[in-house]
Amino acid sequence: MIIDVHTHAMSYPDHLSDEFVHQADIARGYHINLSVDFDTYMKDMEGVDKCIVFGMKAYHTGFDVPNSWIAAFAARAPEKLIPFMSLDATDPDFMDDFEYSWKDLKLRGVKMAPMYANFDPTDPHLDELYRRTSKLGLPILFHTGTTFCQFAPLKYTRPALWDDIAIRYPDQIMILAHLGHPFENEAIVTARKHPNVYLDLSALYYRPWQLFNSLMLAQEYGVMNKILFGTDYPFTNAEDTILGLNGLNHMVEGTNLPRISQVLLEEIIYRDSLPLLNLS
Ligand SMILES: [Zn+2]
Repeated sequence: MIIDVHTHAMSYPDHLSDEFVHQADIARGYHINLSVDFDTYMKDMEGVDKCIVFGMKAYHTGFDVPNSWIAAFAARAPEKLIPFMSLDATDPDFMDDFEYSWKDLKLRGVKMAPMYANFDPTDPHLDELYRRTSKLGLPILFHTGTTFCQFAPLKYTRPALWDDIAIRYPDQIMILAHLGHPFENEAIVTARKHPNVYLDLSALYYRPWQLFNSLMLAQEYGVMNKILFGTDYPFTNAEDTILGLNGLNHMVEGTNLPRISQVLLEEIIYRDSLPLLNLS
């Protein structure tokens, strides 16, 4: 069983700005098609059993994927796709968006990207949301870690911010995406303290030395059991992510450096994340 907890769906140019695509191309050095076609998505996800799928709402950096569009996308494969709503807390009506997406669209979790949307995730105006989601048992996946976007503030993405949220809302199930790169140490110690805080390792395998060290840190702190498998599709896919994970120990072959436990790595790849996220 492979569960991908981090996949995106969106359509360009309807849902994302030229400026974002331009900056993404510069950061990569080549063009990547970020328009997600349903049939291509399903084909690329053939090796995955279930996927959490969301759009992205972050007006500040040019994202606006309607939650109704995600609901319709996921409704084409309801046995495989688990749709999350995306909220931008700078929108004065974001709580209306939440209630509509939860009650009418029946979306099963929340995705937020405070750095991309330019808001502080610890701001008291989010308390109403956290009270609702923790009471309803809805998981929230937060983008944590850096980005190439020039005007997305780093101060809203440091994983230690979520220690504050988890202290105030200990029942809130959350995922800190991308291990909070390159602040993995903050993400790992936050997940270690809080039973309902999880991490995903999406979009990290292509910086293998950094990922090797991050997983060693997670192993030494005993939090490998809090790490969930994810890809960040369409930026990466499951096959390359698994190949990347299984190749990490090759870098230290012939040395006395410590190894990442292959057993723990397999547990991450095949982890049934759904019960942990109240999504069974
Ligand atoms: Zn993502």
